[in-house]
Amino acid sequence: MIPKGGTDVVLNEESYDITIIGGGPAGMFAGFYAGLRNAKVQIIESLSELGGQVSALYPEKTILDVGGYPHIIARNLVTELEAQLKTVKPVIKLNQTVTDIQKNEDGYLIQTAQGTTQSKAIIIATGVGAFNPRKLAVDNGAEFENRNLFYSVKNLDQFRDQTVLVAGGGDSAIDEALLLEKVAKKVYLLHRRDKFRAMEHSVDLLNQSTIETVTPYLIKKLDHADHDRVTITAKKMRSDDQMTLTVDKIVVNYGFIAQDSALNAWSVHPELNRGTIQVAPTGKTELTNVFAIGDVSRYEGKEPLIATAFGEAPIAVNTIMQQLYPDRRGPLHSTSMHH
Ligand SMILES: Cc1cc2nc3c(=O)[nH]c(=O)nc-3n(C[C@H](O)[C@H](O)[C@H](O)COP(=O)(O)OP(=O)(O)OC[C@H]3O[C@@H](n4cnc5c(N)ncnc54)[C@H](O)[C@@H]3O)c2cc1C
Repeated sequence: MIPKGGTDVVLNEESYDITIIGGGPAGMFAGFYAGLRNAKVQIIESLSELGGQVSALYPEKTILDVGGYPHIIARNLVTELEAQLKTVKPVIKLNQTVTDIQKNEDGYLIQTAQGTTQSKAIIIATGVGAFNPRKLAVDNGAEFENRNLFYSVKNLDQFRDQTVLVAGGGDSAIDEALLLEKVAKKVYLLHRRDKFRAMEHSVDLLNQSTIETVTPYLIKKLDHADHDRVTITAKKMRSDDQMTLTVDKIVVNYGFIAQDSALNAWSVHPELNRGTIQVAPTGKTELTNVFAIGDVSRYEGKEPLIATAFGEAPIAVNTIMQQLYPDRRGPLHSTSMHH
């Protein structure tokens, strides 16, 4: 089927019922659920692996607030999601970024660098967009990156028996420090305020741990030290005092800067407000058959959590299927769905 409207568009594949843009927890669970509903579905993910923020930013963290798991290591949650997703055999395209979306009479044309596909409906599950960590404000930071200086803990073994300084004062900084405490020789947690802005539970765990807090200090300078170590110079806030500390590794957790520019570049896209899309309770956007779920969607009371995304996915999929195939039965319980 060659769509009308697009100029010289060559479709390199058959068309889909639903295209899910983004393979984070929201997109993965939506892909699985769409498969349960017998939808023809493709998931397009710009990174080389599924899992979104969970894989990219905190694979080693223990997650406590996903239903059914009293605790689960983030990367294991992604493995479980992937296993569940693959039971319905969706088309999964990794290393592909959706660069444009155009409307035509059969729905939408989805463009990536690898080609153009046709889809009746779209679920935008792009999360916080292309994200990057907020970097340490020192002139020579790049020299130390991936040797002494890290912006996430991807491989805990790298820190085994080492002296590590974690910089930051939020939940994830504390989580990382607690995680590192399990393998490192010594962990420092440096923050520019005396108080940590983290959940009480995390702060309690921190107080009970062997982690040494260094507050209120801000890192100003890094210098190479013997044995591939790094010397940190930190300034005390509202004072001229300085301190130095030599460690093997630094993990900076100052949060992330999100870039939602990819969506803005599409020929058609729902209106974006600070990177998020306003949706109806079904996930519907102002565009026909375009839905948004997960961190990218916004409505009153929204909490950007994995559990929230898991709830939004079936609602969006069922609403789309009702729209596309009004004669089909549904929604049903998974045990009575056939595929
Ligand atoms: C440090 C940290 C700790 C957290 N801890 C918890 C926790 O304990 N419990 C909890 O419930 N939540 C936690 N969260 C939040 C949770 O990770 C998010 O709510 C969840 O990842 C949202 O899933 P998502 O699928 O909507 O988006 P994301 O996980 O952001 O995934 C979106 C995906 O879309 C892809 N994408 C974006 N644009 C395009 C494009 N144009 N084309 C193709 N692909 C694209 C991205 O590459 C990404 O993989 C934490 C977040 C952080 C940062």
